[in-house]
Amino acid sequence: MARAFVGLGANLGDPAEQIARAIEAVGGLPRSRVVSASSLYRTAPIGYAAQPDFVNAVVEIETALEPVDLLRSLQDIESGSGRTRSFRNAPRTLDLDLLLYDDRTIDAPALQVPHPRMHERAFVLAPLVEIAPDIEIPGRGAASSLLARLTNQRIAKL
Ligand code: AMP
Repeated sequence: MARAFVGLGANLGDPAEQIARAIEAVGGLPRSRVVSASSLYRTAPIGYAAQPDFVNAVVEIETALEPVDLLRSLQDIESGSGRTRSFRNAPRTLDLDLLLYDDRTIDAPALQVPHPRMHERAFVLAPLVEIAPDIEIPGRGAASSLLARLTNQRIAKL
């Protein structure tokens, strides 16, 4: 079994409800189980500011799915939540990112692991460090050290 971390975000509809349902859906994936789930966090949007705050969380899973199959399953959960893709950083009912998969580095067009922007986002690092205080991001260093540098990003535990 591999140890993977998945980031969840939503800022339309009832975001906390969307995240709770998505965590259940991730736990229901074949040959996978949720090991731990972070608290929910209210966070300021990044990139495109004129939209509601996000609710974010991170879950740790054990899975026998290969990374591409896991990503495809996560995208199915996104589609099932009614998500449509409009533009980059647009508001969304549900966003699921594959953050880490063991200590693997994957650099394919459709899948980069570690997620290429996770190390600069407090909305990923804060919930990640909550459930995995000692986690290292391959090529980037300790998640806790990276988070300590991001003091200007607004984030609050719900
Ligand atoms: P977004 O709309 O921001 O959620 O981006 C989704 C796109 O990013 C999809 O086309 C994925 O194939 C691609 N992608 C690349 N690496 C990852 C990853 N680690 N997790 C989720 N999506 C990824």
